[in-house]
Amino acid sequence: MDPFDSNSTDRANLPRNMIENSMFEEEPDVVDLAKDSTAFPSFPALDPDEVVYEPRSSRLLVRGLGENDMDEDEEDCESSARLLGMSFMNRSSAHRSSSSPYTRQAPPRSCSRPSARTMVVCVLFLVIVASMTMVLYFLPGCTFTKTGCRKVNKTTPFEPVYPISTNGEPFPWAQFRLPQSIHPLSYDLTLNPDLNSMTFTGKTVINMIVLHNTKRIVLHSANLNITKATFKLGDGKASEVTVLEYKPRQQIAVKFSEDLKAGQHCVLTLDYFANLSHTYDGFYNSSYTDKDGNKRVLAATQFEPLSARKAFPCFDEPAFKATFLIKISRKPSYMTLSNMPKASTTTLPNGLLEDKFEKTSVNMSTYLVAFIVANFTPIEKNVSEILVSVYSVPEKKEHTDYALETASKLLEFYNKFFEIVYPLKKLDLVAIPDFLAGAMENWGLITFRETSLLVGKQSSPLEKQVVASVIAHELAHQWFGNLVTMSWWNDLWLNEGFATYMQYMSLQTVLPQLDIGNLFLAVRFRALDKDALNSSHAVSTEVNTPEQVEEMFDSVSYEKGASILLMLNASLPGDQQFRKGIIEYLKQFNGSNTDTDDLWNSLTQVEVSAQHQNVSEMMSSWTSQKGFPLVTVSRKGDQVTLTQEHFLLTSDNATHTSSLWNIPVTYVNDSCSLAPECRQVFTLRTKSGTLKVPESVKWLKLNYKNTGFYIVHYGDDGWTALKEALSNNVNVLTSEDRASLIHNIFALSRLGRVSFRLVLNLLNYMSNETETSPVTEALLQLNRICQLLDKRQEQDLVSRMKEYIQHHFESLMHNQTWGEEESVSKQELRSAVLETACGLNDENCIERAKALFKQYVNSSGTVRIPGDLQKVVFTVAAQSNEDWSTLLTMYGNVTYDAEKRKMLQGLASTQHARSIVWILKAGLKGDIIPTQELPLVIDSVCDGFAGYLIAWDFIQNNWDQLIEKFPVGSFAIQRIIKSVTSQFSTQAHLDQVHGFFSSLKERGSQMRSVQEALETIKLNQRWMERNLPTLRKWL
Ligand SMILES: [Zn+2]
Repeated sequence: MDPFDSNSTDRANLPRNMIENSMFEEEPDVVDLAKDSTAFPSFPALDPDEVVYEPRSSRLLVRGLGENDMDEDEEDCESSARLLGMSFMNRSSAHRSSSSPYTRQAPPRSCSRPSARTMVVCVLFLVIVASMTMVLYFLPGCTFTKTGCRKVNKTTPFEPVYPISTNGEPFPWAQFRLPQSIHPLSYDLTLNPDLNSMTFTGKTVINMIVLHNTKRIVLHSANLNITKATFKLGDGKASEVTVLEYKPRQQIAVKFSEDLKAGQHCVLTLDYFANLSHTYDGFYNSSYTDKDGNKRVLAATQFEPLSARKAFPCFDEPAFKATFLIKISRKPSYMTLSNMPKASTTTLPNGLLEDKFEKTSVNMSTYLVAFIVANFTPIEKNVSEILVSVYSVPEKKEHTDYALETASKLLEFYNKFFEIVYPLKKLDLVAIPDFLAGAMENWGLITFRETSLLVGKQSSPLEKQVVASVIAHELAHQWFGNLVTMSWWNDLWLNEGFATYMQYMSLQTVLPQLDIGNLFLAVRFRALDKDALNSSHAVSTEVNTPEQVEEMFDSVSYEKGASILLMLNASLPGDQQFRKGIIEYLKQFNGSNTDTDDLWNSLTQVEVSAQHQNVSEMMSSWTSQKGFPLVTVSRKGDQVTLTQEHFLLTSDNATHTSSLWNIPVTYVNDSCSLAPECRQVFTLRTKSGTLKVPESVKWLKLNYKNTGFYIVHYGDDGWTALKEALSNNVNVLTSEDRASLIHNIFALSRLGRVSFRLVLNLLNYMSNETETSPVTEALLQLNRICQLLDKRQEQDLVSRMKEYIQHHFESLMHNQTWGEEESVSKQELRSAVLETACGLNDENCIERAKALFKQYVNSSGTVRIPGDLQKVVFTVAAQSNEDWSTLLTMYGNVTYDAEKRKMLQGLASTQHARSIVWILKAGLKGDIIPTQELPLVIDSVCDGFAGYLIAWDFIQNNWDQLIEKFPVGSFAIQRIIKSVTSQFSTQAHLDQVHGFFSSLKERGSQMRSVQEALETIKLNQRWMERNLPTLRKWL
């Protein structure tokens, strides 16, 4: 999935609760036992479900209970204990005491000259040993194993305590994850949606195989009313069964009095009815207004991560792969789509038509199933015997050409690159009018937001870049995610980090004119910013609740995941090594599920160069711990010492971690700094290391082109040398390296390692800077500070800061053109520079923007504002009440969505309080402004001084409605929280934010984004306290 909409560099960040990940780490031997079901072969009475699928929490304590399931209370007690660090400390200290080198040991004795007393003692000893041996002999072998004896525990005082089903009976399962005793093989789904009543009926037939003897089938179902259930074992007769439901975990179950035996096949058939969802997940209804002003209704699906269960009862975890045969009924005026091509259409007795799709030719995870009932129209093309189609509502058909052409090119590229041909006969890309995420990679039926797929004929290259990126991401998923899937959501990065990496990599090759490199670099900077917080998490991290699953869709899984893959690729010898490794991985695990180690092992296997390090060894230091290193350089003559430490932003300076990374440090120096051949590599595995450079070297730049995921501090002398070099000639470094210096020095200032004066010193070279990445990074950082000062009402400093920015970027601001521009990079630069200029009330900028808006309005649509300038023009226009109303009318009439969104950003930038309140309410209501745009609206409102407190009130007052639309933990909620809180920098606001979110309890107080918000405010507060005097003095 691409959860982010097109503002890709401004993506939501998110942390989790306060608990250090390390607290969840299990002793390795325990984990192995827990994972390996074969470790318990001698306990036939044990239901293997208890053994195989326990998450890495300390369930071992419970295993001693034999056949009893752990009940919820026990689970809660246990996790509370873990929070206190108790169970692990106790267990590990017990371990230690037996083997501690400090334990006093008896001196060795000898019996060579025994005295009578010694003889008596020896005999006594032998008798004791003999009796103990007999006792041990007659006790079951399991008595002293870690797990203990399960059967013996039949007499245990613990009784199984199960949750209570809706009908009052005990529900036979008490865990978040499903038992492993039964696996689905195939699903037959029949769906009858009624788009008038917004309801649907369904029939789901699940063919299953029993893997371990069991007396229960447990699967997922949410908001479905099951009317009839039958069960058939092997060739037996089908008979009705009672379905129990436990709503808090969205699980249903069927209990049996006799064991279902391993190896048996069985069929569960469930009839049900439900409402079409009115949010953006499950089987949901969507609508749009057609060109004649009529409301058209449609139904579509969004299942990732946990919503397939809202459309049909299923084993809704990624590792339960199966085949699907889908039938959907519809009115003749509608069409349907699903993962597979349509096989046949029949007329039903009620006059409706039923479309039957081919059975999936691949085993699929439930979250990849999709179907749509709508009146869309396609354009299509054959690509290497695969029918590629792009669907949209009929009036937007003319905006689909670019997507078809791009998808076709990328499909050919991936087929060759992965050396595995896309396995289905067709690939549909569908633009859905109401769609929350950017896009979703359903196998064979990729769904998109309209802005992520449709581009007008005159669209700017920047708009095309957005569409191409999303298509490249979702197509990469057809291999990474669909063909090979993570076993559980804890390794979501295997899907998302890879798709994100491939999206940039493929576009660099297939569509180099889109200049995707600047965007990828900016995205890596934002990933570093988020991962620097204490509330961040390891790339591969434990996930045990639905909210935690939702929270995995964040920049750590996506952008950090992609960044560490880039670092790995850049550090391997030869450019084919990485590719060979991932081909190997895809081939080896084709059709199955994996975890992070599988990937590193595949990449290690193809490693040919003996002197090169083991990939697993290197990469696990990046995926198993949160954060990233700060590399500090100190130089004495020809000796350069590199030291690493955790780059951890904390507001209290109290937290120190001993984390170490295996860092492929790259560096260039003044004698050779631009070409890839200049790059040298030093692997820093330990706390510090020393490398030699010729004494004549004037300066070093580490992290060549910022392909590594770390920040570098050069020390005062190192920074000064770099600053001087850049002042003499900006081209001594690549533009990526210049941007990297700017990013790093601002980050170090936030960490408190460099004074802000040093930051300003480096920025002095900016008046000669013209490249996109360094300029946009510097503007972003300076605007951020300006925003903070503005919100603290430091008006004097705000105006001095504005003067500073204007002074340093003056020539760039005045040299920008306002006509069509073909280069993406120049468009990126121009929009950033002009948005800043107009934001600073630069007269020239405001005048040009106003004139362009007037021309546009007067021309009734014949004059077009270049795509990259629309936001700045609409934002300037929206500051006048009259033009705001004009813009609102235009917003209602325009069909092209990229333009529409920029109008919305303009509308939301108003400083008029009444309009701000109106637009926030309209976004929540969803009639004039679609609710899917509310996160964007809130974000734009918060930029302005007038709006940010109104927005903060708004989310507090409407929290329950917000989490009804956007699930707790989801990226939309992450983004909203970040927008409304990230500009606070005072104790009063910190107290308010803390007070509000802690009052939410289960409605969101545990979210990682809340923790991140609190940390960010504290850091802002600290930065201000430290740097206000400097700003007053130096600006
Ligand atoms: Zn994705």
